[in-house]
Amino acid sequence: MTENEPSYIALSRSNELDKRIEILNQMLSSCKLCPRECGVDRTIGEEGICKSGTKLMVSGIHPHFGEEAPLVGAHGSGTIFLTGCNLRCVYCQNYEISHLGIGEVITIEEIAKNMLRLQGIGCHNINFVTPTHFVPQLVEAIAIAVKDGLNIPIVYNCGGYEKVEIVRLLDGIIDIYMPDMKYGRPKHADKYSKAKNYPEINFKAVKEMHRQVGDLKLDDLGMAYRGLLVRHLVLPEDLAGSERIFRFLADNVSKKTYINIMDQYRPQYKAWEFTKLGRKPTNKEYNRAVELAKKVGLNRGVRYKADMTGCSICR
Ligand code: SF4
Repeated sequence: MTENEPSYIALSRSNELDKRIEILNQMLSSCKLCPRECGVDRTIGEEGICKSGTKLMVSGIHPHFGEEAPLVGAHGSGTIFLTGCNLRCVYCQNYEISHLGIGEVITIEEIAKNMLRLQGIGCHNINFVTPTHFVPQLVEAIAIAVKDGLNIPIVYNCGGYEKVEIVRLLDGIIDIYMPDMKYGRPKHADKYSKAKNYPEINFKAVKEMHRQVGDLKLDDLGMAYRGLLVRHLVLPEDLAGSERIFRFLADNVSKKTYINIMDQYRPQYKAWEFTKLGRKPTNKEYNRAVELAKKVGLNRGVRYKADMTGCSICR
């Protein structure tokens, strides 16, 4: 095995992948796949907070060129957008997909075929967007695709509200974890995403992700093949609690954490019902977040913004 060969290939050879699938599938009959722990029987069509049954739903499958540079390269990130979400963010930037349920049912076998198709057209990775509520089905799709030659990294691109027990079951399956770190304070996690324990749960999950894959590693062409890439969306009035998140990363994870401090917040969905969420963050607010990150020693992926069209992503 070479250093940048995805580890799911070795797991597949050892039958460990099949064991994990069995454990994960059993969880669907009293669903506790995520911190919501709804306990619904998804195998008979009951729905929990994510509003998802057992059938996979996707809203799009295609190369994506808007992700972070180390994921995109010349041919794009092979993105698979899952419908539904276990978070209830009132300002969701993808609310049509996450909350309104826009998407189509697709079989596990079709997902596997699409993964191979994306690999075939040169995508540098398979990027599952909002995968948390469909983990069992997606791991099954990986197991099918690897038998037919899948050999590019898998990106777990999630909202960061993940049970550490489930993240442990993904050890050796996921190459690149890309969690959001949305809130540093329970008060705002509760008010805007109905997830008061988000910071505590999120911090534990991110620590476990980093334990598995380490800091983001790039190959000779600058493409990511393994590691942790954190996203943090700056909200107006510091509602995201940026400082606590950056301090946690610097003190408990790694100062070499690659972090994309995002500036693209726009009021969407129900944000208009909340006075403080009703505007974009100013340049000053964004740059203050960057300053805080730099102050605690986080530099990878971090850049000041000169104007509202500037890009916050760099290598
Ligand atoms: S995955 Fe969905 S049904 Fe299962 S615990 Fe989470 S929100 Fe509830």
